[in-house]
Amino acid sequence: MNIILLGYPGSGKGTLAKDLSKTLDLVHVSTGDILRDEMAKKTPLGLEASAYMAGGRLVPDRLVMDMLKSRLGAESRGLLFDGFPRTVAQAEMLDGWFTSRGQDLDAVVFLNVEETVVMARLGSRRTCTGCGKIYNVISSPPAKEGVCDACGKPLMTREDDKTEVIAKRIQVYKDQTEPLLAYYRASGNFLEADGGKTPDEVTKDVLGLLHVKP
Ligand code: AMP
Repeated sequence: MNIILLGYPGSGKGTLAKDLSKTLDLVHVSTGDILRDEMAKKTPLGLEASAYMAGGRLVPDRLVMDMLKSRLGAESRGLLFDGFPRTVAQAEMLDGWFTSRGQDLDAVVFLNVEETVVMARLGSRRTCTGCGKIYNVISSPPAKEGVCDACGKPLMTREDDKTEVIAKRIQVYKDQTEPLLAYYRASGNFLEADGGKTPDEVTKDVLGLLHVKP
């Protein structure tokens, strides 16, 4: 099964992807996480991507596609894309890639959340520096402030979750990623869930839409 998650930054794609990839035994492909990893390792790709990411802009399509092809070329398990595609050009390239591998896209899940809600969520999001688990200091704080419940490592605020970058990322989503809703609605395997609910409810709803028992 190959699935794409769509939605605003802060709509809950990362949290849902962690749950779904475990339940459905899919490879969680977060282009944001891969790019942050490349940045941390100071690879040529990471260095090139860093200025785009720090400013809330998209990394050029060609870089993202080359990165995915080299990482996923030998992967035979089902894929769960989180944060990809983000432009119509990326979606077209992904279609071509699936076709060349004799594979299909099985579902596109859109997490629908109000813009005001995602703005608030991004401002209070904290991410574990160890395992990547996502917290919200208001709605789902860790038991001990600043420390991950799962692995004990410190939590951080992502550079691009800082107030000045959030508005830019929302605008970039509207301009470049929102057109994907029309692109995939026309494809016939488009599913929509209410991303304003709690993470557990969202996972349950999406599994229901995918006809999978939790
Ligand atoms: P995310 O963790 O998905 O919110 O992504 C963080 C940042 O990484 C984005 O704001 C972009 O700068 C970059 N990025 C992640 N995925 C993509 C993509 N598919 N295309 C272009 N840039 C991306």
